[in-house]
Amino acid sequence: DRVLIGNKVSEGHVNFIIAYNMLTGIRVAVSRCSGIMKPLTPKDFKCTKKLAFDYHGNELTPSSQYAFKFKDYSPEVFRELRAMFGLDPADYLVSLTSKYVLSELNSPGKSGSFFYFSRDYRYIIKTIHHAEHIHLRRHLHEYYTHIKANPDTLVSQFYGLHRVKMPISFRNKIKHRKIYFLVMNNLFPPHLEMHITFDLKGSTLGRYTEVDPERAKHDENYRVVLKDLNWLERREEIKFGPLKKKKLLDQLKKDVQFLAKLNIMDYSLLLGIHDLNKAKEEDPELPEGSLVPVTTSTGGFKTLPESTGGLPSGTVIPHFFKEFEGGIRSSDPFNNDTNLVYYVGIIDCLTNYSFLKKLETFWRGLSHDLKVVSAVPSKEYADRFYEFIADSVGTSPQTRYKDNPEVQD
Ligand code: ATP
Ligand code: CA
Ligand code: CA
Repeated sequence: DRVLIGNKVSEGHVNFIIAYNMLTGIRVAVSRCSGIMKPLTPKDFKCTKKLAFDYHGNELTPSSQYAFKFKDYSPEVFRELRAMFGLDPADYLVSLTSKYVLSELNSPGKSGSFFYFSRDYRYIIKTIHHAEHIHLRRHLHEYYTHIKANPDTLVSQFYGLHRVKMPISFRNKIKHRKIYFLVMNNLFPPHLEMHITFDLKGSTLGRYTEVDPERAKHDENYRVVLKDLNWLERREEIKFGPLKKKKLLDQLKKDVQFLAKLNIMDYSLLLGIHDLNKAKEEDPELPEGSLVPVTTSTGGFKTLPESTGGLPSGTVIPHFFKEFEGGIRSSDPFNNDTNLVYYVGIIDCLTNYSFLKKLETFWRGLSHDLKVVSAVPSKEYADRFYEFIADSVGTSPQTRYKDNPEVQD
């Protein structure tokens, strides 16, 4: 019943071998470190583990269809992070590696990263640049500390950082390529339609997505991610009453301060909107029950097996993921729930203000106001980002689609 968002990567696909190797590496490395938890030491943050796979296998690694090397970064730290995020170790492995099938996102960003969804769409594998992996490793301790201190953080949840090194033929020559990749949370629940999606940076320069109205009318799989200028043009706002507004902005402030401190910029607020009224119109058969907010302790779709008897203490399920299938309901000025469900998080938060960006600021800064230039130092980026979102959270009573009293409580 879900709308497919990607192309299946299965045997025969150009990237099948890469995907196969990523998953094989994860399966072996992650299952190896699911022992007992002991307090993390500074060494754990620096530690890496290497595995070599080949057709024959050996006492350390099982046989693999293809020969490649796998490197696992700070396995104990990520194991603890996964536990903090409430993931069950066995569940995690089943979602990612029970079958060697992933879905590749059709139109990834301009950075050249590839995105793969796990078979059940709960996890995203993103290939990242060498510099991004350096940045994450350098600041992993700060990241860990921030997550621990901010259970409601909107910053991306990182579940693993890995590398595969494998031979790739390029113009008839075999080259060994290193591919760095991250496993992270999919902000959107697998089984719900996002009626509209925004990627907001607080910058206006080039931040417009052209929408083909004809195609939108006829192709029901046509999905676009709208940007800042679309947001302004449509006079959108995040409809939160005072309570949720405060909660969101307080957390956002802490998160951007954290990112600025690490000299990170170019991140976005990814915002998916599911409209309960629209969903009901599209499918009048929709059982009434599915319109009732799901307030399980695990935040909707991220369910742990019953046997674990709830979540261990210290688990961080952000407030904003808890109300309705991993999202949060819109509310009116009196803090009553209304018809929208927001899926929200800060993504793409590993770009540091590098030399390249400094150059970009220099050239553009000569002729543009800081407000419109997309590459500015991290502190300005954070302030501009925060202000844009703060200005976008409204408590005005009208809802985007016509009110349907039936789904309001
Ligand atoms: P660029 O640097 O050009 O912005 P990128 O390759 O670094 O692109 P991202 O910005 O991380 O890519 O993501 C691109 C798009 O992928 C997002 O706009 C969003 O639609 C989708 N996406 C990324 N991360 C997530 C996530 N955690 N959950 C759901 N969708 C995501
Ligand atoms: Ca981005
Ligand atoms: Ca990026």
